[in-house]
Amino acid sequence: MSFSPPRTGRLIVFTGPSGVGKGTLLRALRDRYPALQLSISATTRAPRPGEVHGRDYYFVSREQFQAMVERNELLEWAEFAGNYYGTPKAAVLQQIEAGNWLILEIELEGARQIRASFPHALQLFVLPPSLTELEHRIRQRGKDSDEAIEKRLERARVEIEAAPEFDIQIINDDLETALQQLEQSIFDQ
Ligand code: ADP
Ligand code: 5GP
Repeated sequence: MSFSPPRTGRLIVFTGPSGVGKGTLLRALRDRYPALQLSISATTRAPRPGEVHGRDYYFVSREQFQAMVERNELLEWAEFAGNYYGTPKAAVLQQIEAGNWLILEIELEGARQIRASFPHALQLFVLPPSLTELEHRIRQRGKDSDEAIEKRLERARVEIEAAPEFDIQIINDDLETALQQLEQSIFDQ
């Protein structure tokens, strides 16, 4: 009879300025490692074209978000560029208990909250090759208004300054190179 030791669940925090390529990197990573789980956040932001409720985010009203906060249903939450974003607690705890590896793609303030509550979580930060390239990527994605783009760029400067707080920094210049560094960071720990 073979014996399989229980797998240990693990939390991985993935942060970096909007438009740096977090979603692109995580989609590619999931294609290679379908067992990696991605937490689905709640947000008051309106869906972008092509985004699906329950797959990309749980799109909720401000009142619904407020109620989740009051019922203590979020592991962390923050305001970003005029909207609220938060990680549903029950789903995360369930995944960790089941022994899964779970990635939280969240902004800086949320990452700091997780650092306080889950000090053993691996914290990764993705950097752009330059601010000019970051702006180019956000514009070329073509899914945010000019106002939303300005807010994201303003916030990007603050977030990039905080990159050294994280365990590992990955520069997303060439996508394949960044993906390899991401794989190494996650699996070689
Ligand atoms: P985020 O999830 O961090 O907001 P996205 O994954 O939506 O960012 O990427 C923003 C834009 O940048 C997309 O149009 C994406 O195709 C592009 N992009 C991502 N990674 C790279 C890369 N390494 N080189 C060039 N463009 C990239
Ligand atoms: P976007 O509007 O571009 O999808 O996301 C904006 C920012 O919110 C990104 O930096 C993204 O990582 C972050 N974000 C997404 N979900 C959450 C969450 O649950 N909590 C926090 N704190 N940030 C989140």
